[in-house]
Amino acid sequence: MSAALTAEEEVHYQRQMVMPDWGRTGQERLKAARVLVVGAGGLGSPVLQYLGAAGVGTIGIADYDFVEVSNLHRQVIHRLADLDSPKTASAAAALRAANPHIEVVEHFSPVNEENAAGLIAGYDLVADCTDNFATRDALHAACLAQRKVLVSGAAQIADGTVTTFAAFRPGDGNPCFRCLYPDVLTPALTPPCSEIGVAGPVLAVIGGLQAMEVLKEIIGGAGSLSGTILVYDGWQADLRRMRLDRRPGCPHCAGAAGGAGTAETAYPPVTGG
Ligand SMILES: [Zn+2]
Repeated sequence: MSAALTAEEEVHYQRQMVMPDWGRTGQERLKAARVLVVGAGGLGSPVLQYLGAAGVGTIGIADYDFVEVSNLHRQVIHRLADLDSPKTASAAAALRAANPHIEVVEHFSPVNEENAAGLIAGYDLVADCTDNFATRDALHAACLAQRKVLVSGAAQIADGTVTTFAAFRPGDGNPCFRCLYPDVLTPALTPPCSEIGVAGPVLAVIGGLQAMEVLKEIIGGAGSLSGTILVYDGWQADLRRMRLDRRPGCPHCAGAAGGAGTAETAYPPVTGG
């Protein structure tokens, strides 16, 4: 799918369209694309800002929180004037102010097992910028069932990870979320950032990587992170890419595509600020 660009859009996006791997074709695909960003917090801030600036034609924002003063050190899409506003409204206003060529849709709602499928049905691809296991699990299950790519970021303290789930693609190198987390993680196992903290720039690093992966999945022709995970250690300034395989016997992706493989032991954080 692609959509023709206006003369104004050609000027607006010239510095990215000039890249041969991006080009007019890539920009037209971005204009036609519909991306849902779940979570307008620490990760959602850079993801939304960069997807909006790059010209993703329709961006959905799902969140159910209000802006608090303790958010502002890391959730940089929101400002002091936005205190007590729904994060969906605050983030949408920022996107609209930065780029008049995109559509922004606000979903002021929690995302859970009951509504995830209906919510993502209107989108081509989903960015997981949430901060808890239950929402991630529901989102992933819905994406897998609808064969939609889920680009997932997570961060806590000074550590973060990014990976792409596309277990509907064939091959052992495309594991699902539950290949990585066979057991349900309860909130007690995943303390919130109000207890353990998170460094703002780590969210910018992880969110920036996430935005790049979303854009690449839409533009096409580039490698996917599916089957690997980027692991960032902010204190040590270390970024590495690890292999992830499908978990043998995983019931969640068994029927999706491909066969069984061997699982790498890697447990990224599931909080997200
Ligand atoms: Zn699986």
